[in-house]
Amino acid sequence: MPEELLDIIKQNIRQNGAMDMGEYMSLCLSHPQHGYYMTSDPFGAKGDFITAPEISQLFGEMIGVWCADLWIKMGRPQQFALVECGPGRGTLMSDIMRVTNGVSGFHTSVKIHLMEISPALKAKQAQILAQFKPVWIENLEDVSADMPIILIGNEFLDALPIRQLMRQNGEWQERTVDYEEGRGLFLSGRPINNDTQRFIPKEVLAGKEDGIFEISPILNQFLKSLIFLLQKQTGGALFIDYGYTKTAMGDSLQAMKSHQYTNIFDTPSLCDLTAHVDFERLLEEGRAGGTCVHGVVTQAQFLKNLGITHRANALCNTATSNQVKEIMSGLARLIDTAQMGNLFKVAAYCNDPQITPSGFHESF
Ligand code: SAH
Repeated sequence: MPEELLDIIKQNIRQNGAMDMGEYMSLCLSHPQHGYYMTSDPFGAKGDFITAPEISQLFGEMIGVWCADLWIKMGRPQQFALVECGPGRGTLMSDIMRVTNGVSGFHTSVKIHLMEISPALKAKQAQILAQFKPVWIENLEDVSADMPIILIGNEFLDALPIRQLMRQNGEWQERTVDYEEGRGLFLSGRPINNDTQRFIPKEVLAGKEDGIFEISPILNQFLKSLIFLLQKQTGGALFIDYGYTKTAMGDSLQAMKSHQYTNIFDTPSLCDLTAHVDFERLLEEGRAGGTCVHGVVTQAQFLKNLGITHRANALCNTATSNQVKEIMSGLARLIDTAQMGNLFKVAAYCNDPQITPSGFHESF
């Protein structure tokens, strides 16, 4: 771990005692000077991981089709905010804009909002999306008021810090990160209070199983703000991420560096830390907040419902044999069940019960 960040973590622990996993994850990912996302561009073959839009243009094209379809179903509002959370290199948005170029009125109505934490990635997005004059926002409250919203997030929710609660012999504790000279960083625990306990769903509290349960107050707050905004300004939101469809116990926190899993304490500010998204909670939050929910479907099902195979075949018709290979291997990575197809899940919110966003006709 770079010494600077370790020193900051050590000092923090010395002053305030062991920190919860959420604080640790926040420091590692987004410390203003040394956080993982603040210093680097982690994508691609040479980076730490690769995401769907970076694998194939087909992904962004399908998301573009989804956005255009929703915009049409919303009555083609003459001004709307297309908000992307965690836009990475801007590839997804750029593919969305290319494929919607032929959708009459879409480009003249769209106001692109990018919610991005990383200065390095913001610079990349500014370059690739310059012609569309996007605006950058810090949080959802900054979205232009009084216009409908279409929001998307691919592999965004998994980057939001989680906290880990542990049940052992029926007793709940919060998993914390502690430090000792000579021993380095290590896991410890502390009793949980009522404020924390309210994040554990009743069915989990009632269970007997020992193990870890992950909560994310930050993600919950984000979803609450989003639902509020969708109700105030109307619109929909789409999330694609790796995760599970049923709330369950389990430790999903992972560190990834150069496409390999590593220990979360080894090189924290130099590796990506993520956790699986609990899609059941995401849907519950939506319902509880009074918005309609759609999904969960697998990424494979969603992309096939939107016609990805037809689009791939159409592209192949005018491609060289090398390009055909590339198109088909990209398609396979996105939809094969052994690759991203099943692991990644898709769900949507839409405030209007009359609207059915496309892509969800076979859900769990
Ligand atoms: N959607 C992109 C990138 C996914 S990686 C793609 O599919 O390629 C996660 C992205 O979320 C990165 O752009 C990262 O900088 C951004 N990010 C992480 N935490 C964030 C936060 N709290 N607020 C805004 N952006 C964040």
